[in-house]
Amino acid sequence: MNIFRGHSIRDRLFTAFGVLSILTLATSVIGWSLHVQLGNKLKSVVEQDIPSLGLMVKLSTEAATITSLAPALAAAKDEGARQALWLHLNEGTKSIARLLPNIPTTPAALTDQTMSLDAQLKSIDTTLHHLNDNVLKQLKLKTDKETESQRLRWAVSGFLTDIDPLIDNTQKYIRSRFNEDIPTSGIVVNSRGERTIAQLNADLQVLFRLKADTSLLVNLVGRAHHLPDPDSLIATAIQADKLGKSIPEYIDNMSYIKGFSELRVNQILDFVRRDLNMFELRRQERLYFEAGQELLNNLEIQLVSFNDYINGHVNAVREASFQAVKESNYAIAQGNRLMIATSLASVLLSVLVVWLYVAKHIVGRIRILDGSMRIIAAGNLQQPIPVKGRDEIGTMANSLRSFRDQLTEKQAELVQAGKLAALGQLSAGISHEINQPLTAIGHYAHNGVRLLEQGRPAEAMDNFSQISSLTKRSTDIITRLKSMARKRRDSVQPVCLNQVVDHVLTLLQSHPQTQATQMSVAMKYENNIVMAEQIQMEQVVLNLLSNALDAVADNTHTKKIAIECVQSEGQIELRISDNGPGVAPELYEQIFNPFFTTKEVDQGLGLGLSISYNIIQDFGGQLAVVHNPQKGAIFSLRLPFNSINQAETMR
Ligand code: ADP
Repeated sequence: MNIFRGHSIRDRLFTAFGVLSILTLATSVIGWSLHVQLGNKLKSVVEQDIPSLGLMVKLSTEAATITSLAPALAAAKDEGARQALWLHLNEGTKSIARLLPNIPTTPAALTDQTMSLDAQLKSIDTTLHHLNDNVLKQLKLKTDKETESQRLRWAVSGFLTDIDPLIDNTQKYIRSRFNEDIPTSGIVVNSRGERTIAQLNADLQVLFRLKADTSLLVNLVGRAHHLPDPDSLIATAIQADKLGKSIPEYIDNMSYIKGFSELRVNQILDFVRRDLNMFELRRQERLYFEAGQELLNNLEIQLVSFNDYINGHVNAVREASFQAVKESNYAIAQGNRLMIATSLASVLLSVLVVWLYVAKHIVGRIRILDGSMRIIAAGNLQQPIPVKGRDEIGTMANSLRSFRDQLTEKQAELVQAGKLAALGQLSAGISHEINQPLTAIGHYAHNGVRLLEQGRPAEAMDNFSQISSLTKRSTDIITRLKSMARKRRDSVQPVCLNQVVDHVLTLLQSHPQTQATQMSVAMKYENNIVMAEQIQMEQVVLNLLSNALDAVADNTHTKKIAIECVQSEGQIELRISDNGPGVAPELYEQIFNPFFTTKEVDQGLGLGLSISYNIIQDFGGQLAVVHNPQKGAIFSLRLPFNSINQAETMR
């Protein structure tokens, strides 16, 4: 607070409210920047992360389609199925290619580790093309195998058609050699002419063996069509190959058998001898099948990698979103903490300003100053003014101090002047009072002397007794003067208000208005005893009656003053009323202020009521003007009724 020493209240309040405004502004700026930060985070989530996640879902769906369709393509039964599946797969890769450019940015975690999605898609596409070619080849081989089987069936049928009549013929020929009854006309005789039975049996055996070997060969070729494993395929091929080589060896030189040369055995042997025979076709088919499986495996690996990439991307986006939410939460918490701190600082500063500075320093000091002002206004000029400081209130306190000091000085001067004025007033009355008896005494003395000279002592005695009573009255007046001049308020003592009124009325007999005014006195009780000082009380009553006389002075109608004394509720009330112009209600309080007067400069000092008020207050009573709905003023003087000393005084 030292830095503010010597500054005005305006400067201090300006600084305090300036700091408060800056704190409020800081709170608003924090709130605003928080809002902007959150907005940016939300924007990035809405504009990048959410669309990117949607895109990833689409890519994943397309990849799943490829994953499910590729094995079906590999296992396509015919060209129609292959074409339909290939169309779908092609469409899938194209959709992925269309989606790829829309992916916003590749997360940093993925760029270093894996192939880009573009490169991965190219590999998948290439594999799919290879797979498609492979399937095409397999389908072609399948067709070739079918054709070969068909041809085999035809060849077998032709061979059997040829060999069976030859066997029949040979058997018939043998039987006709044993049985004369069997006609030989229909039997075809072989070209070597007559053959022995043994030779004929040998021919028949060759024919049977040929039929059996050819059937076995056909059977082996037919089995090759479906043989599942390469070992059995090789074994079957070797067996067929052996047969293919052995058959020509033992059928050589058999052409003498009529019709043997027309046997279509070579067509059957061709199924083994040809380069692209059934065994080769089946071997190639198996190779392509294995290659197809290999391609499928590769494709699966590529699709897994593709999906991993997508999952990685999704995870990265999710991670980024979590991070954004985390950062937002942190920013919100941080902002909230800052806002609460600045708000608390504002509240604290406001409380400090209002409570410590405004309430204590300003309002508190103003209250103290106000209290001092009121006490000074009530007449206590000794009241200290404890307010310090060099601000506006300090300046006011200084002004009040100098006002109080000047007032004390002036009041002392004016009290002195009032005393002198009262003394002058009293002196005028007293000199009038004393002059009268002195003149009368002179007159009675002169008459007494003359009457003694004339020898009239009795009459002279009357004059002397008049002189005596006039002298007593003069002594009384002087005694009261002496008591008036005595030092004020040495000590309070029981005072009878009846005596006070009597003394004052005596003093006022010389007042110019007294004779012209109807004075009524109604002191209901004898024991109107109060604790006060006789002289002071007389001063008060004298002042009230003087004012009443002044008030009725200008009356055109009868001038009246009434003095009455009543007792009630432990108090004695002395009322002095007149039928003068009265006191306006708005002046009820002002007339008790020092120097308030409505009289001409040389006629009133405005001190009478003020001094009287203070005197009565000193004795524990109240002096007030009473509202009078009628014409005229009523002054009420209340003092505590002193019952303890009452009896003593009355004695
Ligand atoms: P002063 O008599 O010197 O003016 P006071 O203090 O005795 O001073 O009276 C103050 C004022 O109160 C008077 O000037 C007058 O206006 C008013 N006042 C006092 N007594 C009466 C009264 N009896 N009737 C009307 N006005 C009165």
